[in-house]
Amino acid sequence: MATRIELEKPKMAIRARYFQSLGKGLYLFDSVFNGITYIHVREVLNDEIPTKNGISLTMGRCNELFSGLPQLDIAVNETELKQDAYYRRHLGGNWYVSVNSVYRRVSIRKFWLPEGATDVCATRKGVSLTFDQYRELKNGLRTIPSFVPELYGVIPCYSEPGHDMYNCSECSPNENYVEKIGV
Ligand SMILES: [Zn+2]
Repeated sequence: MATRIELEKPKMAIRARYFQSLGKGLYLFDSVFNGITYIHVREVLNDEIPTKNGISLTMGRCNELFSGLPQLDIAVNETELKQDAYYRRHLGGNWYVSVNSVYRRVSIRKFWLPEGATDVCATRKGVSLTFDQYRELKNGLRTIPSFVPELYGVIPCYSEPGHDMYNCSECSPNENYVEKIGV
């Protein structure tokens, strides 16, 4: 069954081709800055004023988020069945999407590697979605390329010929720590 998306009309302060409420004041929308498209999950005041509370993803990272939806769904479903679940996916450049059944949220967040650490740690920069907001986001990610067609042409860095994971700023944003994208 096709899901119908009700697109809201942003007021003039946001020039988005796609603008969709995820509930509780969060919106999915696009912007273009210096010719580069970004996809935002962000709080917007009065359907008009974007706030600092939110994230903007490059098209490549948004594409990875989209590719991770099947695994995210599994972790969300397991959490709703009161099972332990954990899933984390590197979107590139230290941005991660994760689900943890303890927190019952889908988190899209910037991480960093503290000196001497063996794993990256979450920063405060990011959004935590309720599962209802996640389901709205999922519908939105499926629909947004019809309105932002350059999203159809995204080629992941690891699909480029001659891609060297260890010297790729998306795959290896930290020295001595590589977490493959696209798994
Ligand atoms: Zn790469």
